[in-house]
Amino acid sequence: MSTRVILRSPFGETVTRDIADGYWADPVGAADSTLGEGYWAVPGLVDAHSHLATRDLPAPNGGYQPGVLDGAVERARDALSAGVTLLLDKGWCDKTVIDLMAAMPEAERPEIEAAAQMIAVNEGYYPDFALEIDAFEIGSVVAEQAVMGAGWVKLIGDWPRRGRGPVANFTEDQLRRAVEIAGESGSRVAIHTQAREVPSMAVAAGVHSIEHGLFLTDSDVATLAQRGGMWVPTVLRIEETIVQLGAESGGGRLLIEGLGNARRLLPAAFEAGVRILAGTDLVGTPANVASEAIKLGEYGLSNLQVVEAVTTAGFRATDRSSDFAVGAPADAVLFPEDPISDLEVLRHPTVVIRKGTVV
Ligand SMILES: [Zn+2]
Repeated sequence: MSTRVILRSPFGETVTRDIADGYWADPVGAADSTLGEGYWAVPGLVDAHSHLATRDLPAPNGGYQPGVLDGAVERARDALSAGVTLLLDKGWCDKTVIDLMAAMPEAERPEIEAAAQMIAVNEGYYPDFALEIDAFEIGSVVAEQAVMGAGWVKLIGDWPRRGRGPVANFTEDQLRRAVEIAGESGSRVAIHTQAREVPSMAVAAGVHSIEHGLFLTDSDVATLAQRGGMWVPTVLRIEETIVQLGAESGGGRLLIEGLGNARRLLPAAFEAGVRILAGTDLVGTPANVASEAIKLGEYGLSNLQVVEAVTTAGFRATDRSSDFAVGAPADAVLFPEDPISDLEVLRHPTVVIRKGTVV
């Protein structure tokens, strides 16, 4: 029983592949069935900032919010049905997602890369949620978390302190140390930042992915682009936070200013080569990632850039095939129309193939 898939990319190329044991193979002989004729195909949608462990943010005044495996399993299934074949989970207060990766067969969930527990300092995040370390211990803690995680370490770069706005949790040297130690286990580092000065520190320190990062500068963008670094602006999450804080509050005004900066930077950053990625960050579930992608369009990305940001860019940024290479996992999402001509198409894939199985 062999299946042949015609994969017409919205970016131009059309390739024909057979599925062999869950991977793409060169077509050989006659196939029993053919799929994909007349559709547009991408390797999948990518949610580059998710938290599968739960649906809810931590309580503002603290309180441990453990992940729940059953719920996480359900969200992982929903994400795959919505076309998310790759998901970068940016950590939680526990290792629910790491457990999920062991518990679920790959063909029933997206491919997942994940940070284990988030790393902050005392008073440097929601109370009693992330690991609250002494900043000078960052090397040993990152070493542990890199081993526990699946490809990522997540740092909380800054957090508001009463009356002072967001304050950096770590120095640039400490961030550099984190990147170096994570690299020893082949892990990347992601940093939460909403402060003014922290994105520049993180970029200079070699951090791989800037989460939110509203105050990146032109020179940060140039540096990040040079090394193919990632920026996940999570615009829906920021807009929601502004509503929660109130647009007139100190925090709300800061985020509005930051969104203005992001709007100014996004198209140029994309063109320069920064991997701008779509991330849901608990606005809905990972299945909602098309909404964040469409939002990036409102912030200045062209339709072509939006489709890249939510599909191929995430595959390339994590060293995966973005064009159905022979030998790559047979993952594909088929759309009835070209998503570049109508972004709404991203919300409704017709067929999702994961590890060679039609979902
Ligand atoms: Zn997050």
